[in-house]
Amino acid sequence: MEMEGNVYRAHCLVLAYPAQGHINPMMEFSKRLEHKGVKVTLVITKSISHTMDKEANSIPFETISDGYDEGGVAEAESIHAYLERFRRVGSQTLTELIEKLSNSGCPVDCVVYDPFLPWALDIAKKFGLVGAMLFTQSCAVDNIYYHVYKGVLKLPLSETEIFLPGSPPLRPQDMPSFIYDLGSYPAYFDMVVGQFSNVDKADWVLVNTFYELEEEVVDWMAKIFPLRTIGPTIPSMFLDKRLEDDKDYGLSIFKPETDACMKWLNGRPRGSVVYVSFGSFVDFQVEQMEEIAWGLRMSNRCFLWVVRTSEEAKLPKNFVEETSEKGLVVSWCPQLKVLAHEAVGCFVTHCGWNSTLEALSSGVPMVAIPYWSDQSTNAKYTMDVWKMGLKAPVDEKGLVRREIAEHCIREIMEGERGEEIKKNALKWRKLAKEAVDEGGSSDKNIEEFVAKLVHS
Ligand code: UDP
Repeated sequence: MEMEGNVYRAHCLVLAYPAQGHINPMMEFSKRLEHKGVKVTLVITKSISHTMDKEANSIPFETISDGYDEGGVAEAESIHAYLERFRRVGSQTLTELIEKLSNSGCPVDCVVYDPFLPWALDIAKKFGLVGAMLFTQSCAVDNIYYHVYKGVLKLPLSETEIFLPGSPPLRPQDMPSFIYDLGSYPAYFDMVVGQFSNVDKADWVLVNTFYELEEEVVDWMAKIFPLRTIGPTIPSMFLDKRLEDDKDYGLSIFKPETDACMKWLNGRPRGSVVYVSFGSFVDFQVEQMEEIAWGLRMSNRCFLWVVRTSEEAKLPKNFVEETSEKGLVVSWCPQLKVLAHEAVGCFVTHCGWNSTLEALSSGVPMVAIPYWSDQSTNAKYTMDVWKMGLKAPVDEKGLVRREIAEHCIREIMEGERGEEIKKNALKWRKLAKEAVDEGGSSDKNIEEFVAKLVHS
């Protein structure tokens, strides 16, 4: 088998769910596979491919259709309708893609897919291919959804403490929002629980985490599934540096204001800046945005705040002008570079799984203001298990008030607790790097995956 003139060991199709936080891990796992001699074709939807800045992308990609080629989910009448049509049209176009690649002399050996799209496994099996699901959320969260799927964790939650194997006791509000706020997003609830619908057919269950981070729950789930940890899927340059060109994820939905951010950070004292970002989806109420804005101002620290264009109108009037001496507000930034910058001392985050792993891998303490989905669980672990940050408490309206935001930032930047958290942050940074470096837990697992693929 040839790969750019070289022999390749196998060909993997890597199918990503169309969202920034799902494409990034698929992209990085693809690069790790390629580094080990596997040919990879990344598969994204046509609709998301229009919105992406693909300049730095090194992995060849192909598209399939979700049935909404212009606007993706935004074009659909409901989330349910979107996912249903995606299943139907996606199955058909994925089938066509596999056939096309086979006919062009580049047959596929394995489909790696996001379990948000479980139908991909059915297609892989129809062709007799190896099927590997790759969870892009934490193993703790996957375990919660598994228990709901099995009917062991009964809903609605009635206990004040929930005990699951491999997890510390969890309060209802530590659970993913689709579980504790049952009925809030029924289509997404079905999707996250449905990840396990055909898991018994999967040859591999890969998880974007690392063993040392989630040892107990990984050990527990590995007794049930052929589970391997392969993360954190972060560009090599920020971890082990073995993949020379891997400096960036390579596919971005928004255009980062890189120069403005880096110039602004350069020269600021070490650990003096609060970096604030809530990822690609979070859609806070105006009141919550205002509270965060006030909290930041009251903390009296320099801050770099990513406010997506769609969220801009929620900022208090004249906020940007009035805080321009202390703060910079941008519409998107190169988050990994920002977290790696020595000026950054604290990350106010929604605790999306990628952001959490990125903070752990860069050793930046977090103030968690989770919004929905798995973020509350990630925030709980960040504070109580990894002891790498604080989960900001909410009031009876579910909002983090300005005094609380200010207090949490001060705790991390100035408090005694902050010192402890910083120590832990450095520990996690070291362990994350070791996991993906040669002979580390994730590296060994990827090696095993590739070796079996070659011999299957
Ligand atoms: N990100 C970025 N620039 C920003 C904000 C976020 O590059 O200004 C990236 C971040 O590094 C992460 C991803 O977007 O890889 C967000 O994923 P996450 O799982 O944290 O949150 P989601 O967007 O899925 O809610």
